[in-house]
Amino acid sequence: MNASVSVLSAEDQGWVHDLVMLRLPERITVEARTGQDCLWCLAPLDTTGIDLEPGVTRFRSCAVCYLTRLAWAITWRDWHTHILACDTCQRGENCMTARGRRAQNEKACAALGETLSCTAGCLLPIDSSDQAVAVVWDGLTHSYPGYAHTACFPAEVPR
Ligand SMILES: [Zn+2]
Ligand SMILES: [Zn+2]
Ligand SMILES: [Zn+2]
Repeated sequence: MNASVSVLSAEDQGWVHDLVMLRLPERITVEARTGQDCLWCLAPLDTTGIDLEPGVTRFRSCAVCYLTRLAWAITWRDWHTHILACDTCQRGENCMTARGRRAQNEKACAALGETLSCTAGCLLPIDSSDQAVAVVWDGLTHSYPGYAHTACFPAEVPR
């Protein structure tokens, strides 16, 4: 698809796709449900539409919507996996690598018209200058990729 996708292993492509599919719109129109329109921007699709869940649903997406969400998923995962593996991050200290990965994810979020918010804590927006981490939080039916202010989340155990 594009360069950043092709460097992912098959396993990685699986979870990236799962992350993308967690970002379903709140309302899904009849046209989107049947794959006529893009699930996210509702533009009518021709044969170049991307099948999102072949054999499961008929959801389809335009390339722009899919790649924008893919960029968000990849950058979130990069940030999150770094935090888990990095001693500096685990100690809650300032880490330039984490900072860089966070900046990439913030950019990807902005491309979706969103800003980071403290989904695992106070639910308030996370300002670029706030100390924050990428975390997995447990919802009713899924574990969700999210964010938390460092102060809102027990720093010793970023999951
Ligand atoms: Zn679209
Ligand atoms: Zn780090
Ligand atoms: Zn918070």
